[in-house]
Amino acid sequence: MRIKIWGSRGSIPTPMTNDAYRFKVRRLLELYAKSEDKDIDTFLENVPFHLSNTYGGNTACVQVIDDSSKDIIVLDAGSGLRLLGNDLAGKGGLNIHLFISHFHWDHICGLPFFGPIFNPTNTITFYSTNDEIAENLTRQQHQAHFPISLESTPSEKKFVVINSDHTVKIGGLEIRAVDLIHPGGCSAFVVHSGKKKLSYVTDTEFTEDGIAGKELYYKACFESSDLMLLDCQYSLVEFFSKFNWGHTATNVAVNLALEWRIKQLAMFHFDPMHSDEDLSRMLIEAKSITNPKYNNRNLKIIQAVEGSVIEV
Ligand SMILES: [Zn+2]
Ligand SMILES: [Zn+2]
Repeated sequence: MRIKIWGSRGSIPTPMTNDAYRFKVRRLLELYAKSEDKDIDTFLENVPFHLSNTYGGNTACVQVIDDSSKDIIVLDAGSGLRLLGNDLAGKGGLNIHLFISHFHWDHICGLPFFGPIFNPTNTITFYSTNDEIAENLTRQQHQAHFPISLESTPSEKKFVVINSDHTVKIGGLEIRAVDLIHPGGCSAFVVHSGKKKLSYVTDTEFTEDGIAGKELYYKACFESSDLMLLDCQYSLVEFFSKFNWGHTATNVAVNLALEWRIKQLAMFHFDPMHSDEDLSRMLIEAKSITNPKYNNRNLKIIQAVEGSVIEV
């Protein structure tokens, strides 16, 4: 499996500001002036990631690419979905499977701007544990909010309500929903392809107390994932003023990933208040977490950078 990150920001699309851009340019020019290496590509390889790149501002959208299926498989329809649509421009006859974790705006706002819904040869199947899939998506494109209603877009649409006991099979992939802890409800998606396992777990407030009684259930669902995209919206300090907002503190996420023997943790659902510099700092902090209980467990930690492809 390959996992392409089209959007990993949480809550609201967050374009880079002029001040942030200027900060990067200034800092890069200062470093370049002092650098002995004047080859620009080599120089850029060696500066901190948050200066030469951006972690991204589009909201949740992740594509699962697998040799066993020619269909397009997508988890969440945040603003990153627009970029996937651009990538598919000019292609028809597509079977697109869109799994929606929940219907908060940051997870559906890309749909009206998703080019393939305007192509009559495409079929789009929506999956959710919420039994009002069509109503929730139609409401977003009410004429007060958007000029083109969902029903009038020419692609064929299907709506499939799933539950935690239900496994969806697409090609060689098996996809299952898991209930999370979030205002209004939310689903994780666990994807199996052969022996490989991906867990997409965003918009959940995991705390020791919050999962009490369900520790074994969650462990059984997510254990030994080759890759877990996990809500890491807050630092521990931020979390203390954001109880019941539905998101997880990074240190809790890392400890759970260790407990569940996750192989690679991709920090996901970046807070809109976090700059690229903040996200680099949070990654360093996450990597520095040690817990004697999990002494010998290897956990690779990355940020889910928009535009990146993660091999599983
Ligand atoms: Zn969200
Ligand atoms: Zn949410």
